[in-house]
Amino acid sequence: MNKPRHAPQIHFPVVDDVLQVGGIPLNRLAQRVGRTPFFAYDRDLCTQRVRDLRAQLPQGVLLHYSIKANPMPALVHHMAGLVDGLDVASGGELKTALDAGMAPARISFAGPAKQEDELAQAVAAGVCVNVESERELIALARIGDAFGIAPRIALRVNPDFELKSSGMKMGGGAKPFGIDAEEVPRVLRLAGTLNVDFQGFHIFAGSQSLRADAIIDAQARSIALALRLAEAAPVPVRQVNIGGGFGIPYFPGEERLDVAPIAARLAPEVESLTAALPQARLALELGRYLVGECGVYVARVVDRKVSRGEVFLVTDGGMHHHLAASGNLGQVIRKNYPVAVGNRMAAVDSGPASVTGPLCTPLDILADRMELAHAQVGDLVVVFQSGAYGPTASPGAFLGHPAPLEVLV
Ligand SMILES: *Cc1c(COP(=O)(O)O)cnc(C)c1O
Repeated sequence: MNKPRHAPQIHFPVVDDVLQVGGIPLNRLAQRVGRTPFFAYDRDLCTQRVRDLRAQLPQGVLLHYSIKANPMPALVHHMAGLVDGLDVASGGELKTALDAGMAPARISFAGPAKQEDELAQAVAAGVCVNVESERELIALARIGDAFGIAPRIALRVNPDFELKSSGMKMGGGAKPFGIDAEEVPRVLRLAGTLNVDFQGFHIFAGSQSLRADAIIDAQARSIALALRLAEAAPVPVRQVNIGGGFGIPYFPGEERLDVAPIAARLAPEVESLTAALPQARLALELGRYLVGECGVYVARVVDRKVSRGEVFLVTDGGMHHHLAASGNLGQVIRKNYPVAVGNRMAAVDSGPASVTGPLCTPLDILADRMELAHAQVGDLVVVFQSGAYGPTASPGAFLGHPAPLEVLV
């Protein structure tokens, strides 16, 4: 059997040349969904991913799911049963997390520019707010006084280091996120004068790293920073959220992140943390690592065209649903996500073809000159690694096409 060169990197089985998602052959699934394009998330793969990670992490480390990676309510509900906490970044996500049945004490709310109504929602719900500024702290205390509640808070710290070789640096240097580490002692003193229920620290250095050594380094620095800052805390620290940053491979040649050395190095770090701060629990918060590889985007070939010798598979799906796969979500050089023709998985490569979408812009590309099976009108093109940062991270209103359907199977 010849495999397409950009075959999926993981997980999804192929039976009789057809990709299976959630145990359902793709063409059958497309009929069940009713129309294309759609995103399908495999619930067993999500479960397996969390189990595999937990089996490696040291005892007592809390695992949180950052729902902005994929806030589909059914998926969040599924994840809520698997992880220790949910991290939200808006009032809308907070509602999704609460609806999913997660206990408020296990929900944390981070993100810049939290509005007054969002802060009030969070205080009333009793979730922990990761405070991004002094203004936010004062606003929370005021809202708490009005409600007769001491708001649960943690300080989001802009660390004095970054997650090296990460796709997205969220800490270190000048950043709009969090409170600069050197300002934290002063803000802690202020917190000590207010009626707030101080929990601890949230330190998020970056995202999408595939290098275990970089993550180990960031984790050690985060824990050391938390220990230093804890000296100025008004009450004993109960939680230290050191972010995550675990990446997934999207592009040819990228190696899967090796979690084993990260977990091994975390064990003594957790011990030293709990030795110094006996009440503190360590939390990791991950988004794409938990769900990104568990989802596919499926679009149907509407036209097959040859333009001056190049093949174009024109599909009903594109950038308006999947900005990241089109290469327009922060990529400097466009690279192809893994793409295949899902109902012709065993077909011999037919030569390069590009997969494009329905938008009138040359940016609307799902695959640029990839080796794909010979596809025809009606075939189903699959973009792998699509379980995170899909529809909610895409310009869905552009050109007025319908939103994609999403299913959890
Ligand atoms: C976006 C975000 C995450 C999740 O990032 P992933 O790369 O999806 O793991 C975690 N924590 C915070 C604070 C975030 O903003």
